[in-house]
Amino acid sequence: MKILVLNSGSSSIKYQLFDMIDQSVLAKGYAQRIGIEDSYLEHKNNRGDKVKIEQEIHNHNEGIQLVIKALLDQAHGVLTSLDEIDAIGHRVVHGGEKFQQSTLITDDVIAQIQAVSDLAPLHNPHNLAGIAVCNQIMPNKPQVAVFDTVFHQTMESQAYTYALPYRYYQEYGVRRYGFHGTSHQYVTKRAAKVLARPLADLKLISCHLGNGASITAVKAGKSIDTSMGLTPLEGLVMGTRSGDLDPAIINYLIEKENLTISDVDSILNKQSGLLGISGISNDLRDIQKAAREGNKQAQIALDVFIYRIQKYIGAYFVALGGVDAIIFTAGVGENESNIRKEICDGLGVLNIKLDATSNQLRGEEACISTIDSSVAVLVIPTNEELMIAQDTKKIALRAT
Ligand code: AMP
Repeated sequence: MKILVLNSGSSSIKYQLFDMIDQSVLAKGYAQRIGIEDSYLEHKNNRGDKVKIEQEIHNHNEGIQLVIKALLDQAHGVLTSLDEIDAIGHRVVHGGEKFQQSTLITDDVIAQIQAVSDLAPLHNPHNLAGIAVCNQIMPNKPQVAVFDTVFHQTMESQAYTYALPYRYYQEYGVRRYGFHGTSHQYVTKRAAKVLARPLADLKLISCHLGNGASITAVKAGKSIDTSMGLTPLEGLVMGTRSGDLDPAIINYLIEKENLTISDVDSILNKQSGLLGISGISNDLRDIQKAAREGNKQAQIALDVFIYRIQKYIGAYFVALGGVDAIIFTAGVGENESNIRKEICDGLGVLNIKLDATSNQLRGEEACISTIDSSVAVLVIPTNEELMIAQDTKKIALRAT
């Protein structure tokens, strides 16, 4: 069974084609700068061939057509016919409260995704565009929506309710939803395997630290709290997003600088976080380099980033009533041993002991704490695409 996984963003489409017999990746790549100048598609196959196709990609339709052309190409393709694709799995960012699990896409499901799209106007419309194009090009194939929010639907009301007039929740669905759910679910399942213990017995804190960052408390395989909220803006310090802040700052800045609401929205989402504090970059590697060279703002950015993570770990330690393992994943979590060390050094009260040698490992599954550490510390590379493919397979098989 072959499954195509698509992640359609505002100006990009990421894709992976899986052979579900052994869950191997046959090909993967991404179309970038869709609808902008200088667009291109990068494509790799499992024989090691890599191509970059530079051409104008005006919209998602052209983008997905180009992906399919690359998959069928005689030189670098991996399919002889589209018939070989059995099902398509789509990442959909926001499922609101409507979707409690991954779902076979029907006209009714599309309408329901549209109905919650004003909760994620930057994401859902592009996810829907990808679905619409696949419906046109491959009308008879099962398509499955896998939502970032679903994993967090197990949170209870004390974790997801904002202290606002309650009718905003009742009328508009204003509550914490949480994101990166597919990633948190994947790494916590893998953590149980690495620890050789049943997931049902484990209390885990999952730190997804990439350009977007979130942290989740997982008890017996269920999300009980998470740092992102109604939108992916809340919580940790991110590449360009502020994370938590006093909401009164918004009005204060509007008055001080004569800004509009949309200016502030853009500042909080695109000009804040590591980039905002450092004034250098949203990329942690650039900031670490600048900090090493003595740049003070870069050091402050790192300190705030790390301290915020430690604060959440402390809160979730209490919410979980203890913790068996802390998991690091995504770009920073998988690769940055210094950051992992600094986070754990500040958690002395948990009696965490990192193993200096295994903490040097990059991008591979490992336990990086010592045997006598009170809490295990794990590095687990995330694989959201594989989770999407697995859910798609399950649901597509049920549908056929
Ligand atoms: P992500 O959003 O998961 O791709 O993560 C991007 C973040 O990970 C950026 O801040 C990068 O600086 C950081 N990072 C650190 N090391 C690496 C690496 N080897 N590969 C990719 N990202 C890295």
